[in-house]
Amino acid sequence: MKMHEYQAREVLARHGVPFPPARVAETPDEAEAIARELGNKVVVKAQVHAGGRGKAGGVKLAGSPGEARELARTMVGSLIKGRPVREVLVGQAVPIGRELYLGAVLDRATKGVSMMASATGGVDIEEAARSSPDAIVKVAVDPLLGLAEYQARDLALAVGLAADQAKVFRAIAKTLFRAFLECDCSLLEINPLAVTEDGLLIALDARMVIDDNALYRQPSLAALRDTSEEDPAEVEAQRVGVNYVKLDGNVGCIVNGAGLAMATMDTIKLHGGEPANFLDIGGGANVEQIGAALRIILKEANVRAVLVNIFGGITRCDIVAQALVDLIEERRLDVPVVARLVGTNAAEGRQMLTGTDVSLATTMSEAAKRVVCLAGESRQVAR
Ligand code: GDP
Ligand code: MN
Repeated sequence: MKMHEYQAREVLARHGVPFPPARVAETPDEAEAIARELGNKVVVKAQVHAGGRGKAGGVKLAGSPGEARELARTMVGSLIKGRPVREVLVGQAVPIGRELYLGAVLDRATKGVSMMASATGGVDIEEAARSSPDAIVKVAVDPLLGLAEYQARDLALAVGLAADQAKVFRAIAKTLFRAFLECDCSLLEINPLAVTEDGLLIALDARMVIDDNALYRQPSLAALRDTSEEDPAEVEAQRVGVNYVKLDGNVGCIVNGAGLAMATMDTIKLHGGEPANFLDIGGGANVEQIGAALRIILKEANVRAVLVNIFGGITRCDIVAQALVDLIEERRLDVPVVARLVGTNAAEGRQMLTGTDVSLATTMSEAAKRVVCLAGESRQVAR
């Protein structure tokens, strides 16, 4: 789950990371009032779930409350990086000496948390990471031991600071790591972490991504979810409790079990097709959930055929068949569907689908081959 900048700032500030004062505005009036209160010179920042707002015109300095008002007027309701702006953050502007980068990310390679720092922070950090990866120093942190003093020193050394600044930097790095763990983050970064013209360290931006699998134990963070920023199909899938990831191909897949879903996608590719999604209905899905999963897939414009691949254990094949029969009756099945049903109540399920438009297959290979062929043919037909 991605968070807005202002939400991430609040969380980090609570942990003790210094930020300039800032507040969220939804209207030009509010932006003007906040700017007046903060002392005239402010930065106005579009709140969307995207990085690189600065380069896209989503971060602008205002020299007066009137200017802040104008900036809010043009930003709210506009698109930044293709996303509609509903709010702006109006923050006290800081005279920047230099911009550092400090971040933490869940690292599968080290089975821990990688913390990174760079002296070349700011809007060009991605470019810096590509062109001169040595400019970014990385330490692998053991989540049980935490960020060790020597690691914090390595990070601080990399960004080149005076002794008193380095001390503050190390404290911020430790705080960031603690917040990362406490909030179950998969990503947490401060970019830029500014050194002001007066030599003070202050965070000017925050990005925070929470591991979806941990949201159940982070209710206060989960409450900050902004679903208007997310893919509606994925939001609907979460609501009904199925695991759905949209992909680029044209063969929709409905499968029970993540392993079988992966195998199904492999088999589709083996036969020259491309899956349109990963979808795992889990064990023991009911008719409503399976129906909702089918509707999610059928709504995607690129889907030309659907493969229903069920290995019934707790999941009952007749329940899956019932969801298909319901959709046929609602006349919602507007693309060819191939079903392979084996396991619990397979005979009943197959019986229910006999004589319908659903094409029954016995093996996975046969099902995949047929659905890929059908997807190729129905590409001709406009939907
Ligand atoms: P991002 O592009 O989405 O990462 O947005 P940021 O919040 O990082 O802002 C982009 C850039 O705007 C920063 O790298 C800074 O150079 C600049 N910026 C942001 N806040 C301030 C500020 O308070 N004062 C000054 N002078 N520049 C700022
Ligand atoms: Mn930034």
